[in-house]
Amino acid sequence: MLSHMLSNESVEPQGELAQIDRIRRLARVPRGSSIVLGIGDDCAIFRQRGATEDLVFTTDMLIEDVHFRRKTHRPEDAGWKALARGLSDIAAMGAAPRFCLVSLALAPWADSNWVNGFYRGLLRLAHREKTVLAGGDLARAAMVMCDIVVCGSVARGQALRRDGAHAGDGIYVSGALGGSALGFSRLRLNKRADKAQQRHLKPEPRIALGRFLRGKVRATAAMDLSDGLSLDLHRLCLASGLSAEIAAPPVFPGASKEQALHGGEDYELLFTALARAIVPGSFEGLPLTRIGTMRKGRPGAVFLDGTPLPPLGYDHFRKP
Ligand SMILES: [Mg+2]
Repeated sequence: MLSHMLSNESVEPQGELAQIDRIRRLARVPRGSSIVLGIGDDCAIFRQRGATEDLVFTTDMLIEDVHFRRKTHRPEDAGWKALARGLSDIAAMGAAPRFCLVSLALAPWADSNWVNGFYRGLLRLAHREKTVLAGGDLARAAMVMCDIVVCGSVARGQALRRDGAHAGDGIYVSGALGGSALGFSRLRLNKRADKAQQRHLKPEPRIALGRFLRGKVRATAAMDLSDGLSLDLHRLCLASGLSAEIAAPPVFPGASKEQALHGGEDYELLFTALARAIVPGSFEGLPLTRIGTMRKGRPGAVFLDGTPLPPLGYDHFRKP
């Protein structure tokens, strides 16, 4: 849960990663499969023989009291967020969204007004991003749970992955970080709506930016910042077999440095680019900031101003 995000509980960075690794070993992709990238990135990549485009797939859960709360999130917000999380993974691959499938389990309290609001919020974003709602399932459960699958497409072999960074590549983030964590903390205090709360309630998937990074900047690796910079950069480093040296990232107005480093759900993009790449200072008004450099060294290690930065971002499987 987001409320755990900033705690200094014992650090067990292997929690969720180790669980995913065990599943990946069990689900080994057979040689010759059309799945050219399986578990472990923002999306899986499916390539059909002779096709000029790859299809990318992501799936994401949105669970009551984990990813949204009935008290603070209107049904429209929950629906928007369910899709935005998936679209953010599509953006991280530099792909264009095509369609989504949405399965929704409804708690006894969720009446037809709530369900209609949920789909209104989801479809508002879907229409804007030209993502067709192509199917799904409805069920009853003790709490509201949503699972969404989003399919996107990208030129064959061109998807941005987490494992493509080289030593010497610059490390960049879009926007300012910590806004969602700040907004979440303010929502809990029932303070009035502000920009940080909006940031938490209605995250913006960076789809146009992802395609720009792939096509124009030729980013070497990318992922979306869903669980906090410290943990997500650690994951990108692990995938690329490198370490990272960074300075503090841009901080969302009012947020703390801790929130910017470890707070989740900003849904900005984290990416790397060759040292000689030309990365503009902004894209469509969104700042792009270089925060550091990829280095050879212990894979996964991240240093902030020369000091090891523990991956404290949000991990569902970390032991309290
Ligand atoms: Mg992601």
